[in-house]
Amino acid sequence: MGVSIIVAIDGPAGAGKSTVARLVAQRLGVPYLDTGALYRAIAFFLDSRNIPPVENTVLTDALSTLSIEFSDRGLLLNGEEAGSRIRSPHVDSIVSQYSALPMVRRRLLSIQRDQGKKGLVADGRDMGTVVFPDATVKIFLTASDAVRARRRYLELRARGENVAFDDVLDVIRRRDRIDAERTSAPLKKADDAVEINTDGLTAEEAAREILMHIERRAAESEAHQ
Ligand code: C5P
Repeated sequence: MGVSIIVAIDGPAGAGKSTVARLVAQRLGVPYLDTGALYRAIAFFLDSRNIPPVENTVLTDALSTLSIEFSDRGLLLNGEEAGSRIRSPHVDSIVSQYSALPMVRRRLLSIQRDQGKKGLVADGRDMGTVVFPDATVKIFLTASDAVRARRRYLELRARGENVAFDDVLDVIRRRDRIDAERTSAPLKKADDAVEINTDGLTAEEAAREILMHIERRAAESEAHQ
């Protein structure tokens, strides 16, 4: 399979998408695109300017003047590094309200597709359904609520955030509900995606399973040529 391979990984919060996607991208030697970071950055930007998650002219103006770039320093919003601020519990609690807005999703669609031109591994909620419907391989990663909340809880604690497990679990469930119930590009498994439950798997094992699917798909497409 050539350099334009696209691996689309979707799933709910805390299913292990970003760690696994990063490993798969490394093995394949292609870039990794964290689309959650784009939605987090936009939510952070709008919230810090007191622009609520409502579609109106204020939001239109803010989105049309906002510049979003990828750089060696990570994601830049109007030239400013998004950094770790976009991973805070506060952003966790507001991001889904912003990402449910069609205006916000439209603003990010071409940015994501442009990144895919030379091949990548991308993770999010609508990679296989909307952004890269022709992806080479589509994966839907899941895990039980308790396992997902535990991963997120440990990640936040490791960063020095003083959070309680039950609050993390609540926020994860609320975020999943909003993400899955919105009308615009909801979180759902693409019909042709392979579902992998990561409850009993390490990130390495999940990545290996995905690489196996990619090899199998490559062998199938060679056999059809
Ligand atoms: O992946 P992560 O948990 O960082 O995503 C944060 C939020 O961004 C999700 O809960 C969802 O609301 C939104 N998102 C989305 N579509 C994507 C990626 C993320 O709506 N492709």
